[in-house]
Amino acid sequence: MEQVDTICAISTAPGRGGIAVARVSGSLAIEITDKIWKGKPLADAASHTAHLGKITAQDGTVLDTAVATVFHGPNSFTGENTVEISTHGSTYIQQQLLMSLTAAGARIAEPGEFTRRAFLNGRLDLAEAEAVADIIASSSKAAHRLAMSQLQGSFSNHIDSLRAKMVDLAALLELELDFSEEDVTFADRNTLRNLSKEIREKVDTMASTYSAGMTLRDGIPVAIIGRPNVGKSRLLNTLLGTDRAIVSDIPGTTRDTVEETTDIDGHLIRFIDTAGIRHTDDTVESLGIERTLNKTSRARVILWLIGPEEDDIEEMYADIAKTRHPESSIIAILSKWDLMDSSCAASRHADEIRRQLPYGISLMPVSSITMEGVETLRKTIVDLAVGSLPSDESMIVTNARHHAALKDASDALKQLIDGMDYGLTPDLLAQHLRQAITALATITGHITSQEILTTIFSRFCIGK
Ligand code: GDP
Repeated sequence: MEQVDTICAISTAPGRGGIAVARVSGSLAIEITDKIWKGKPLADAASHTAHLGKITAQDGTVLDTAVATVFHGPNSFTGENTVEISTHGSTYIQQQLLMSLTAAGARIAEPGEFTRRAFLNGRLDLAEAEAVADIIASSSKAAHRLAMSQLQGSFSNHIDSLRAKMVDLAALLELELDFSEEDVTFADRNTLRNLSKEIREKVDTMASTYSAGMTLRDGIPVAIIGRPNVGKSRLLNTLLGTDRAIVSDIPGTTRDTVEETTDIDGHLIRFIDTAGIRHTDDTVESLGIERTLNKTSRARVILWLIGPEEDDIEEMYADIAKTRHPESSIIAILSKWDLMDSSCAASRHADEIRRQLPYGISLMPVSSITMEGVETLRKTIVDLAVGSLPSDESMIVTNARHHAALKDASDALKQLIDGMDYGLTPDLLAQHLRQAITALATITGHITSQEILTTIFSRFCIGK
């Protein structure tokens, strides 16, 4: 254990609430709580039991009726003796309770310190500890599912199994190294090479899920673009079911970008309504247009609205193609479909637009007035954004640190493979392999440093 002192903090959200929960953890957690506790002594309580009693202020007066839940280490979240004290959620009670606990010998916890202790005491590996922060931050079904799978260790299992494969490979190399004086080659170089390539492919596959993983965690960025007045703001409001963006007949009304989130089928969608793209002398509007192009480059799905009278499809597509993200999908929308009568002329017009669209982009007629096409559009957005993800979600990388470590491992494995091609000596090959193993070990925390831990846990809130 890194520290044995006893820490305390309010673990529920800051502010007033129905109830508040203070967490006390450390070797003296139970003794310290007993000093401010009126009721059956918690020192006599069995682990995992809850007790009704009273908590007292520093001057001995009763602060509140409370429930204390006792956990004996190592079978607690932190692995230490822990007491969770539930009180009424007044900010005054919370503040006084912390003062009483500190006067009795605890100290206020640092951000993420409970989870840090859980890691240091072997209750969670590092990737699982980071998942605790993701669980707390999750705001959609998809983000929650990913964080849960990481918390339950499925992601760590993939990393550990890759690392185990590398360790086996290292053993083969080291064997050769031990006998290098005698100039014997034990392992068949071809087999080693193929094994290394196979491992690197798996590392790369995991690393390649990062951008999709971030999309699932933080929301799918969807840009709504098109000429001014084509119906972008109204479509945004329709998709959101609110009146967030200003709808007006004056071209260029949406001068800045508007960002709003909504949930579609358990996925968080981050809609970006943009200033229309057109050539203008108005400086404010030009800035908006510049920002539009900028935002478009981050979008995973682009909703490109085309008006009933538009005929410069190719020119418009050239603008979009310049800025779109290479992995983005485009949905072309024939906007204000209600204005087109259901005659042959309307369908001929749609066919004409379809003909001008680049290969692979389909055209969807949508009306924000009759709602025609809106449901299909919602489904298509989600299908396009998450359709290309691996079916095994526990392989998805959602954390920048994990992604960087996988990249490092991949680079080191590349050097290993190249080294084999150039006939590098086994000791140099082993060095590259060790680098790759170390990179993966930092993900789960098998190898770590104070610096990494401080960076990770300082991002948590106090009380977590
Ligand atoms: P933006 O400049 O592209 O954001 O366009 P707006 O959403 O502000 O819409 C411009 C005008 O077109 C407004 O008068 C809207 O009410 C109208 N409009 C938007 N969508 C539709 C639609 O689907 N059908 C019809 N008939 N009018 C629409």
